[in-house]
Amino acid sequence: MAKKRDYYEVLGVSKNATEKELKRAYRKLAMKYHPDKFDGNKAEAEEKFKEINEAYSVLSDDSMRGKYDRFGHEGVNNSGFSSSMNMDDIFSSIFGSAFGGSRSGGFGGFDFGFGGGSRRQQRRGPTRGEDVVLQLNLTLEEAYEGVSKKIKMPFNKACSSCNGSRAEKGSSSSSCRTCGGRGIVEKQTRQGMFIQISQEPCGRCKGSGEIPDKLCKTCKGSGSMNKREEITVKIHPGMNEGEALKVPGKGRPSNNGGMPGDLILRISLKEHPYFVRDGNHVYKKLKVDYPTLVLGGNIQVDVIGGKGENRKEMLKVPSGTQYNDILTLRNKGMVRSIRGNTVKGDMRYVIEVDIPKKVGKAQKELLKQLREISK
Ligand SMILES: [Zn+2]
Ligand SMILES: [Zn+2]
Repeated sequence: MAKKRDYYEVLGVSKNATEKELKRAYRKLAMKYHPDKFDGNKAEAEEKFKEINEAYSVLSDDSMRGKYDRFGHEGVNNSGFSSSMNMDDIFSSIFGSAFGGSRSGGFGGFDFGFGGGSRRQQRRGPTRGEDVVLQLNLTLEEAYEGVSKKIKMPFNKACSSCNGSRAEKGSSSSSCRTCGGRGIVEKQTRQGMFIQISQEPCGRCKGSGEIPDKLCKTCKGSGSMNKREEITVKIHPGMNEGEALKVPGKGRPSNNGGMPGDLILRISLKEHPYFVRDGNHVYKKLKVDYPTLVLGGNIQVDVIGGKGENRKEMLKVPSGTQYNDILTLRNKGMVRSIRGNTVKGDMRYVIEVDIPKKVGKAQKELLKQLREISK
Protein backbone atom coordinates (compact mmCIF):
# COMPACT_ATOMS: atom_id res chain seq x y z
CA MET A 1 0.00 0.00 0.00
CA ALA A 2 1.14 3.51 -0.76
CA LYS A 3 1.78 5.74 2.21
CA LYS A 4 -1.37 7.45 3.41
CA ARG A 5 -1.64 11.17 2.99
CA ASP A 6 -2.37 13.42 5.92
CA TYR A 7 -6.15 13.80 6.28
CA TYR A 8 -5.99 17.57 6.64
CA GLU A 9 -3.89 17.71 3.52
CA VAL A 10 -6.39 15.54 1.67
CA LEU A 11 -9.18 17.99 2.43
CA GLY A 12 -6.92 21.01 1.99
CA VAL A 13 -7.69 22.52 5.39
CA SER A 14 -5.56 23.62 8.34
CA LYS A 15 -5.13 21.53 11.50
CA ASN A 16 -7.47 23.80 13.41
CA ALA A 17 -10.19 23.90 10.79
CA THR A 18 -13.68 24.28 12.22
CA GLU A 19 -16.45 21.79 11.63
CA LYS A 20 -17.93 24.16 9.07
CA GLU A 21 -14.68 24.53 7.17
CA LEU A 22 -14.25 20.77 7.07
CA LYS A 23 -17.73 20.29 5.77
CA ARG A 24 -17.28 22.94 3.11
CA ALA A 25 -13.98 21.47 1.95
CA TYR A 26 -15.43 17.97 1.89
CA ARG A 27 -18.49 19.10 0.00
CA LYS A 28 -16.42 20.79 -2.69
CA LEU A 29 -14.06 17.87 -3.20
CA ALA A 30 -16.74 15.22 -3.06
CA MET A 31 -18.72 17.00 -5.73
CA LYS A 32 -15.65 17.27 -7.89
CA TYR A 33 -14.58 13.65 -7.63
CA HIS A 34 -17.93 11.95 -7.35
CA PRO A 35 -17.51 9.01 -9.75
CA ASP A 36 -20.90 9.69 -11.28
CA LYS A 37 -19.94 13.24 -12.09
CA PHE A 38 -16.26 13.08 -12.87
CA ASP A 39 -15.38 13.28 -16.54
CA GLY A 40 -11.73 12.26 -16.46
CA ASN A 41 -10.15 9.02 -15.30
CA LYS A 42 -12.88 7.20 -13.35
CA ALA A 43 -10.54 4.89 -11.49
CA GLU A 44 -8.51 7.83 -10.29
CA ALA A 45 -11.65 9.69 -9.28
CA GLU A 46 -12.85 6.71 -7.27
CA GLU A 47 -9.53 6.50 -5.51
CA LYS A 48 -9.65 10.22 -4.73
CA PHE A 49 -13.24 10.04 -3.64
CA LYS A 50 -12.45 7.18 -1.30
CA GLU A 51 -9.58 9.15 0.19
CA ILE A 52 -11.75 12.24 0.69
CA ASN A 53 -14.49 10.25 2.37
CA GLU A 54 -12.08 8.50 4.65
CA ALA A 55 -10.47 11.78 5.69
CA TYR A 56 -13.79 13.44 6.31
CA SER A 57 -15.29 10.55 8.22
CA VAL A 58 -12.39 10.67 10.65
CA LEU A 59 -12.06 14.45 10.99
CA SER A 60 -15.79 15.07 11.32
CA ASP A 61 -15.96 12.75 14.31
CA ASP A 62 -14.64 14.56 17.39
CA SER A 63 -13.22 11.55 19.16
CA MET A 64 -11.69 10.10 16.01
CA ARG A 65 -10.20 13.47 15.18
CA GLY A 66 -8.69 13.67 18.63
CA LYS A 67 -7.10 10.25 18.22
CA TYR A 68 -5.84 11.14 14.78
CA ASP A 69 -4.32 14.39 16.04
CA ARG A 70 -2.44 12.55 18.76
CA PHE A 71 -1.46 9.31 17.09
CA GLY A 72 -1.83 9.89 13.35
CA HIS A 73 -3.15 7.19 11.05
CA GLU A 74 -2.11 4.55 13.59
CA GLY A 75 -4.61 5.99 16.04
CA VAL A 76 -7.64 5.57 13.83
CA ASN A 77 -6.81 2.74 11.48
CA ASN A 78 -8.06 -0.05 13.66
CA SER A 79 -10.84 1.74 15.39
CA GLY A 80 -13.63 0.73 13.17
CA PHE A 81 -13.46 2.99 10.21
CA SER A 82 -12.84 0.44 7.55
CA SER A 83 -15.20 -2.12 8.92
CA SER A 84 -18.24 -0.10 9.82
CA MET A 85 -18.06 2.99 7.70
CA ASN A 86 -20.40 3.18 4.80
CA MET A 87 -19.52 5.81 2.24
CA ASP A 88 -23.08 6.02 1.16
CA ASP A 89 -24.05 7.17 4.62
CA ILE A 90 -21.46 9.90 4.87
CA PHE A 91 -22.32 11.16 1.48
CA SER A 92 -26.05 11.05 2.17
CA SER A 93 -25.73 12.86 5.44
CA ILE A 94 -24.28 15.81 3.60
CA PHE A 95 -25.98 15.73 0.25
CA GLY A 96 -29.26 14.05 0.99
CA SER A 97 -29.93 10.48 0.20
CA ALA A 98 -29.61 10.53 -3.55
CA PHE A 99 -27.80 12.29 -6.23
CA GLY A 100 -30.40 12.32 -8.92
CA GLY A 101 -27.82 10.61 -11.09
CA SER A 102 -28.60 8.70 -14.23
CA ARG A 103 -27.47 5.23 -13.27
CA SER A 104 -30.15 2.94 -12.00
CA GLY A 105 -28.52 2.26 -8.67
CA GLY A 106 -27.60 5.88 -8.03
CA PHE A 107 -24.84 6.19 -5.54
CA GLY A 108 -26.26 3.38 -3.48
CA GLY A 109 -24.80 0.91 -5.92
CA PHE A 110 -21.28 1.86 -5.02
CA ASP A 111 -19.07 0.23 -2.55
CA PHE A 112 -15.44 0.87 -2.99
CA GLY A 113 -14.23 -2.43 -1.75
CA PHE A 114 -14.15 -1.10 1.76
CA GLY A 115 -14.23 -3.89 4.29
CA GLY A 116 -17.34 -5.96 4.37
CA GLY A 117 -20.02 -3.56 5.48
CA SER A 118 -21.98 -3.24 2.28
CA ARG A 119 -25.67 -3.10 2.84
CA ARG A 120 -26.39 -4.70 -0.50
CA GLN A 121 -24.83 -7.94 0.56
CA GLN A 122 -27.34 -8.38 3.33
CA ARG A 123 -30.22 -7.14 1.28
CA ARG A 124 -32.97 -9.63 0.66
CA GLY A 125 -36.52 -9.25 -0.51
CA PRO A 126 -38.02 -6.04 -1.83
CA THR A 127 -35.84 -2.96 -1.63
CA ARG A 128 -37.00 0.61 -1.60
CA GLY A 129 -36.35 2.77 -4.66
CA GLU A 130 -33.82 5.58 -4.48
CA ASP A 131 -34.75 9.06 -3.30
CA VAL A 132 -34.38 11.75 -5.91
CA VAL A 133 -33.28 15.29 -5.12
CA LEU A 134 -34.26 18.10 -7.46
CA GLN A 135 -33.80 21.84 -7.20
CA LEU A 136 -36.90 23.96 -7.56
CA ASN A 137 -36.46 27.62 -8.49
CA LEU A 138 -39.12 30.03 -7.28
CA THR A 139 -39.57 33.75 -7.68
CA LEU A 140 -40.08 35.68 -4.46
CA GLU A 141 -43.71 36.26 -5.46
CA GLU A 142 -44.26 32.52 -5.93
CA ALA A 143 -42.70 31.89 -2.55
CA TYR A 144 -45.02 34.51 -1.03
CA GLU A 145 -48.23 33.30 -2.61
CA GLY A 146 -47.50 29.60 -2.70
CA VAL A 147 -47.64 27.95 -6.08
CA SER A 148 -48.42 24.73 -7.90
CA LYS A 149 -45.49 23.53 -9.99
CA LYS A 150 -45.45 20.94 -12.70
CA ILE A 151 -42.37 18.78 -12.45
CA LYS A 152 -41.20 16.39 -15.10
CA MET A 153 -39.45 13.50 -13.43
CA PRO A 154 -35.89 12.84 -14.62
CA PHE A 155 -36.48 9.11 -15.12
CA ASN A 156 -39.02 6.89 -16.81
CA LYS A 157 -42.25 6.00 -15.13
CA ALA A 158 -42.48 2.56 -13.53
CA CYS A 159 -44.35 0.01 -15.59
CA SER A 160 -48.00 0.13 -14.61
CA SER A 161 -48.45 -3.64 -14.84
CA CYS A 162 -45.54 -4.84 -12.74
CA ASN A 163 -44.88 -1.63 -10.80
CA GLY A 164 -41.21 -1.81 -11.72
CA SER A 165 -40.67 -5.33 -10.43
CA ARG A 166 -40.16 -6.65 -14.03
CA ALA A 167 -42.07 -9.81 -13.16
CA GLU A 168 -45.32 -10.96 -14.73
CA LYS A 169 -48.13 -10.92 -12.16
CA GLY A 170 -48.18 -14.07 -10.06
CA SER A 171 -44.80 -15.32 -11.21
CA SER A 172 -42.11 -16.05 -8.71
CA SER A 173 -38.47 -15.13 -8.99
CA SER A 174 -35.16 -16.79 -8.39
CA SER A 175 -31.77 -15.63 -7.32
CA CYS A 176 -29.69 -13.95 -10.06
CA ARG A 177 -26.87 -16.26 -11.12
CA THR A 178 -24.62 -13.48 -12.40
CA CYS A 179 -24.23 -11.86 -8.99
CA GLY A 180 -25.28 -14.80 -6.84
CA GLY A 181 -28.26 -12.82 -5.58
CA ARG A 182 -26.15 -10.06 -4.09
CA GLY A 183 -27.23 -7.46 -6.62
CA ILE A 184 -23.65 -6.30 -7.05
CA VAL A 185 -20.77 -7.43 -9.19
CA GLU A 186 -17.10 -6.80 -8.68
CA LYS A 187 -15.05 -5.03 -11.25
CA GLN A 188 -11.28 -5.07 -11.40
CA THR A 189 -9.30 -2.16 -12.66
CA ARG A 190 -5.55 -2.12 -12.93
CA GLN A 191 -3.71 0.92 -11.69
CA GLY A 192 0.02 0.54 -12.10
CA MET A 193 1.05 -2.18 -9.67
CA PHE A 194 -2.31 -2.38 -7.99
CA ILE A 195 -5.49 -4.07 -8.94
CA GLN A 196 -8.42 -2.20 -7.58
CA ILE A 197 -11.63 -4.04 -6.94
CA SER A 198 -14.76 -1.98 -7.03
CA GLN A 199 -18.37 -3.00 -6.98
CA GLU A 200 -21.23 -2.05 -9.23
CA PRO A 201 -24.91 -2.87 -9.44
CA CYS A 202 -25.41 -6.10 -11.36
CA GLY A 203 -26.50 -5.33 -14.89
CA ARG A 204 -28.51 -8.52 -15.33
CA CYS A 205 -30.83 -8.15 -12.35
CA LYS A 206 -30.44 -4.37 -12.18
CA GLY A 207 -29.13 -4.58 -8.65
CA SER A 208 -32.12 -6.38 -7.23
CA GLY A 209 -30.43 -9.78 -6.90
CA GLU A 210 -33.44 -11.52 -8.36
CA ILE A 211 -34.57 -12.59 -11.80
CA PRO A 212 -38.30 -13.01 -12.37
CA ASP A 213 -39.26 -16.43 -13.75
CA LYS A 214 -41.67 -14.77 -16.17
CA LEU A 215 -40.91 -11.30 -17.42
CA CYS A 216 -43.68 -8.73 -17.44
CA LYS A 217 -45.29 -8.63 -20.87
CA THR A 218 -46.14 -4.95 -20.77
CA CYS A 219 -42.61 -3.68 -20.28
CA LYS A 220 -40.80 -6.78 -21.58
CA GLY A 221 -38.97 -6.99 -18.27
CA SER A 222 -37.45 -3.51 -18.26
CA GLY A 223 -39.61 -2.42 -15.33
CA SER A 224 -40.25 1.00 -16.79
CA MET A 225 -42.39 2.59 -19.45
CA ASN A 226 -41.03 4.75 -22.20
CA LYS A 227 -42.62 7.76 -20.62
CA ARG A 228 -41.71 10.26 -17.97
CA GLU A 229 -44.15 11.14 -15.30
CA GLU A 230 -45.19 14.73 -14.80
CA ILE A 231 -46.42 15.56 -11.36
CA THR A 232 -47.90 18.67 -9.83
CA VAL A 233 -46.51 19.77 -6.52
CA LYS A 234 -48.12 22.33 -4.29
CA ILE A 235 -45.65 24.68 -2.62
CA HIS A 236 -46.99 26.30 0.52
CA PRO A 237 -46.58 30.04 1.01
CA GLY A 238 -43.43 31.25 2.73
CA MET A 239 -40.87 28.60 1.80
CA ASN A 240 -37.33 29.87 1.80
CA GLU A 241 -34.01 29.28 0.08
CA GLY A 242 -32.33 26.04 1.18
CA GLU A 243 -35.47 24.47 2.59
CA ALA A 244 -36.63 21.16 1.24
CA LEU A 245 -39.98 19.63 0.53
CA LYS A 246 -40.47 15.88 0.57
CA VAL A 247 -42.94 14.28 -1.79
CA PRO A 248 -43.34 10.70 -0.54
CA GLY A 249 -43.33 7.92 -3.08
CA LYS A 250 -42.29 10.05 -6.04
CA GLY A 251 -38.64 9.02 -6.16
CA ARG A 252 -37.30 6.17 -8.26
CA PRO A 253 -39.40 3.04 -8.40
CA SER A 254 -38.11 -0.08 -6.71
CA ASN A 255 -36.79 -2.68 -9.15
CA ASN A 256 -38.08 -5.64 -7.23
CA GLY A 257 -41.53 -4.77 -6.01
CA GLY A 258 -40.60 -2.62 -3.01
CA MET A 259 -41.74 0.89 -2.17
CA PRO A 260 -40.65 3.73 -4.42
CA GLY A 261 -38.22 6.31 -3.01
CA ASP A 262 -39.17 9.87 -2.17
CA LEU A 263 -38.79 13.02 -4.19
CA ILE A 264 -36.99 15.78 -2.35
CA LEU A 265 -37.35 19.29 -3.70
CA ARG A 266 -34.76 21.80 -2.61
CA ILE A 267 -36.08 25.32 -2.79
CA SER A 268 -33.99 28.00 -4.43
CA LEU A 269 -35.18 31.60 -4.73
CA LYS A 270 -34.50 33.64 -7.84
CA GLU A 271 -33.11 37.09 -7.30
CA HIS A 272 -35.77 39.80 -7.25
CA PRO A 273 -35.25 43.12 -9.08
CA TYR A 274 -35.75 45.17 -5.90
CA PHE A 275 -36.93 43.09 -2.97
CA VAL A 276 -34.42 41.28 -0.80
CA ARG A 277 -35.61 38.57 1.57
CA ASP A 278 -34.03 38.01 4.96
CA GLY A 279 -35.79 35.31 6.93
CA ASN A 280 -39.44 36.33 6.77
CA HIS A 281 -38.66 40.04 6.40
CA VAL A 282 -38.45 41.69 3.01
CA TYR A 283 -36.22 44.71 2.42
CA LYS A 284 -36.42 47.39 -0.22
CA LYS A 285 -34.43 50.54 -0.85
CA LEU A 286 -36.70 53.57 -0.84
CA LYS A 287 -35.89 56.99 -2.28
CA VAL A 288 -37.68 59.82 -0.46
CA ASP A 289 -37.47 63.52 -1.32
CA TYR A 290 -35.78 65.93 1.04
CA PRO A 291 -38.89 67.93 2.08
CA THR A 292 -40.78 64.76 3.03
CA LEU A 293 -37.83 63.50 5.05
CA VAL A 294 -37.64 66.81 6.92
CA LEU A 295 -41.35 67.49 7.35
CA GLY A 296 -42.69 63.96 7.41
CA GLY A 297 -45.54 62.63 5.29
CA ASN A 298 -47.26 59.62 3.83
CA ILE A 299 -46.00 57.92 0.68
CA GLN A 300 -47.11 54.97 -1.39
CA VAL A 301 -44.72 52.03 -1.37
CA ASP A 302 -44.43 48.64 -3.05
CA VAL A 303 -45.19 45.62 -0.91
CA ILE A 304 -44.36 41.98 -1.69
CA GLY A 305 -47.19 39.81 -2.85
CA GLY A 306 -48.95 41.59 -5.69
CA LYS A 307 -49.83 39.87 -8.89
CA GLY A 308 -48.85 41.78 -12.01
CA GLU A 309 -48.73 45.23 -10.50
CA ASN A 310 -47.37 45.09 -6.99
CA ARG A 311 -49.55 45.72 -4.06
CA LYS A 312 -49.24 49.26 -2.76
CA GLU A 313 -49.43 50.41 0.84
CA MET A 314 -49.14 53.75 2.58
CA LEU A 315 -45.98 54.26 4.61
CA LYS A 316 -45.74 56.99 7.21
CA VAL A 317 -42.44 58.86 7.04
CA PRO A 318 -41.83 60.60 10.39
CA SER A 319 -40.37 64.11 10.35
CA GLY A 320 -36.61 64.13 10.64
CA THR A 321 -36.10 60.74 8.95
CA GLN A 322 -32.43 60.18 8.13
CA TYR A 323 -30.57 58.53 5.31
CA ASN A 324 -30.24 54.77 6.00
CA ASP A 325 -33.05 54.76 8.55
CA ILE A 326 -35.28 51.72 8.27
CA LEU A 327 -39.03 52.24 8.20
CA THR A 328 -41.22 49.23 8.80
CA LEU A 329 -44.64 48.03 7.73
CA ARG A 330 -45.35 45.38 10.32
CA ASN A 331 -46.59 41.97 9.17
CA LYS A 332 -46.45 42.88 5.48
CA GLY A 333 -43.50 40.61 4.71
CA MET A 334 -43.52 36.87 4.05
CA VAL A 335 -46.32 34.92 5.70
CA ARG A 336 -46.01 31.27 6.57
CA SER A 337 -47.79 28.72 8.58
CA ILE A 338 -45.72 26.52 10.83
CA ARG A 339 -47.61 23.72 12.58
CA GLY A 340 -50.80 25.72 12.55
CA ASN A 341 -49.16 28.95 13.74
CA THR A 342 -49.03 31.82 11.31
CA VAL A 343 -45.77 33.75 11.31
CA LYS A 344 -45.56 37.09 9.55
CA GLY A 345 -42.45 39.03 8.63
CA ASP A 346 -42.21 42.77 8.00
CA MET A 347 -41.67 44.96 4.97
CA ARG A 348 -38.63 47.11 5.74
CA TYR A 349 -37.64 50.18 3.78
CA VAL A 350 -34.07 51.42 3.80
CA ILE A 351 -34.23 55.16 3.26
CA GLU A 352 -32.27 56.92 0.57
CA VAL A 353 -32.44 60.60 -0.32
CA ASP A 354 -33.98 61.43 -3.66
CA ILE A 355 -31.87 64.28 -4.99
CA PRO A 356 -33.15 65.78 -8.25
CA LYS A 357 -30.52 66.24 -10.95
CA LYS A 358 -32.44 69.20 -12.40
CA VAL A 359 -34.88 71.64 -10.78
CA GLY A 360 -37.18 74.32 -12.22
CA LYS A 361 -36.74 78.04 -11.74
CA ALA A 362 -39.25 78.39 -8.92
CA GLN A 363 -37.75 75.47 -6.99
CA LYS A 364 -34.31 76.88 -7.44
CA GLU A 365 -35.43 80.21 -5.95
CA LEU A 366 -36.99 78.53 -2.96
CA LEU A 367 -33.92 76.38 -2.38
CA LYS A 368 -31.73 79.49 -2.46
CA GLN A 369 -33.99 81.18 0.07
CA LEU A 370 -33.91 78.05 2.20
CA ARG A 371 -30.14 78.07 2.15
CA GLU A 372 -30.08 81.75 3.11
CA ILE A 373 -32.38 81.38 6.09
CA SER A 374 -30.72 78.15 7.23
CA LYS A 375 -27.37 79.89 7.65
ZN1 LIG B 1 -43.78 -4.39 -16.38
ZN1 LIG C 1 -27.61 -9.98 -10.57
